[in-house]
This record gives sequence, structure tokens and C-alpha cells, in this order.
Amino acid sequence: MRLVLLGPPGAGKGTQAVILSEKLGVPHISTGDLFRANIGDGTPLGLEAKSYIDAGKLVPTDVTARMVKERLAEDDARDGFLLDGFPRTVEQAEILDGILTEAGVVLDGVVNFQVSEDVVVDRMLARGRADDNEETIRTRLQVYRNETAPLIEHYADRIITIPAEGTVEEINAATMAALGK
Ligand code: ADP
Repeated sequence: MRLVLLGPPGAGKGTQAVILSEKLGVPHISTGDLFRANIGDGTPLGLEAKSYIDAGKLVPTDVTARMVKERLAEDDARDGFLLDGFPRTVEQAEILDGILTEAGVVLDGVVNFQVSEDVVVDRMLARGRADDNEETIRTRLQVYRNETAPLIEHYADRIITIPAEGTVEEINAATMAALGK
């Protein structure tokens, strides 16, 4: 299965992705995780991404898209993947559409985790990641509203909306059911 996971920062996409990846047998590809691994390893890409991430801004699309394209070309992603954190803008979605068309494959679905802003702010403050202070959280929510939320319209023909304010298990069960699994 080829899926994109959508939702505001703090929606719990990453948590759900780990469980879904196991159950569906496809790799979890998280741009946030890929950036953090690069930052941890001190790679040039990590150095470039860090200042944007620390400010809660999007890393430039050319950098991000190149990283995703390379990851999708790896063997384990040939028959399916869960993309978490990409695309985040309509421009990135168009790039992804191009990558998939070139590979002769299609997205099976776009899972949209729906959570209110109050809940996501509480969740982010609770997890306390380095980029989770109130200022960057506010910026990231604004970026989500302006740049990422329009993807729901872009993918209108394959969107699967999951109410995502329940427990981890409830949200996973709702997602599996919606995917017909
Ligand atoms: P969250 O789900 O809380 O937004 P992520 O781990 O998905 O956290 O992303 C952390 C940061 O990495 C983002 O705030 C952004 O700076 C950067 N990032 C992740 N994905 C992308 C992307 N597709 N395009 C640009 N920047 C990205």
C-alpha cells in the first residue's frame, strides 16, 4: 500500500505510522525523522535543515524533495510506503505526483488525522521535543493552516479522514477499518 499521512503537527501521525507500518508491512518514511537523523550525524543536509526546523519553518522544498526521492528509490519502498510529513505543500504534492507517475504507481490513499488545535498544542508541549516550544508551535500551526491544509482539497478524490482525538489503539483501529484491513 502506498499512503500519505496528513494532519497538523502533534496529530500523532508518527505514532500511528509506526503501528501501521508494522501491520501493513511497508516502511515508515518520516521527513522529520530523516532530518533529525541527518542533524544527529552532522551531514550537510542536516546542517542546512536545522535552522529552519528550529524556527518551526519548512525546510526548502528542493532539499526536502531530493531527500524523499532518494528514500523512495530504496528497495524496501518499491511495493509500498507510508509517507509521514511529506508532502506538506501543494508544490511538494505535485513533485510527489511526478515521482510516482515516473515510477508508474499510484497513491492508494491519503489518511487525514483530524485533531483540534487545542489538543495538538497540549500534545506537543507534553512531548517536549527540541522544536516544541510555544513560539515554534505557533509558527508550525500557521504553516499547517496556510500551506498543508490545502492538500486535503488537492487529494479530495482519495482522502480518508480519521477523527484522531481518542487513544492510540482507537485511532489505529479506525484507520485499519477505513483502509479495509
Ligand atoms: P511535526 O509532525 O510535529 O510537524 P515533523 O517531525 O514532521 O514534526 O517535522 C519537524 C520539522 O521538520 C518541521 O517543522 C519542518 O521544519 C521540517 N519538515 C518536515 N517535513 C518537511 C517537509 N515536507 N517540507 C519542509 N520541511 C519539513
